[in-house]
Amino acid sequence: MSEDCIFCQIVNGEIPARTVYEDDDVLAFLDANPLAPGHTLVIPKEHRETLDEVPPEPGEMMFAAIHYLTPIVEDVVDADATNIGFNNGEAAGQEVPHVHGHIIPRFEGDGGQPIHAVAGERPDLSDEKLDEIAEAVDDRAEGEHEV
Ligand code: 5GP
Ligand code: ZN
Repeated sequence: MSEDCIFCQIVNGEIPARTVYEDDDVLAFLDANPLAPGHTLVIPKEHRETLDEVPPEPGEMMFAAIHYLTPIVEDVVDADATNIGFNNGEAAGQEVPHVHGHIIPRFEGDGGQPIHAVAGERPDLSDEKLDEIAEAVDDRAEGEHEV
């Protein structure tokens, strides 16, 4: 628990929220300033600022909850689709420093953008650079993830 964290206060029932799902590790509630009807936030109950700080188990539970909740939210608000995303770190636009996944319902003709709209100008990357990045990630991912 982080004293001045809004989402920790929601977990502890100190400030109200429209909770839609809860288990031992995860809480999900409606966004107070929704981008669409049904806009839902899914958080680990333990305070962690960014995804790299979340231990494997609550991390897996959080993604499991997103997987479980998304079709339910879509159904309830009669959405045509959803964008699922994390503003993971301040430079990516994260304002509340407690990890949260957004489930944002989308509707045909709603005037919104795909997730590609979040980044800046597209970089011009050579094939060599792309190979180098892919190999580096592949090497690290193989070494560090235990399944
Ligand atoms: P971020 O930019 O950090 O990814 O998004 C934070 C989200 O939390 C925003 O969409 C904002 O509307 C939502 N939010 C901020 N404060 C509260 C709150 O007290 N209650 C709820 N339910 N949502 C909040
Ligand atoms: Zn917190």
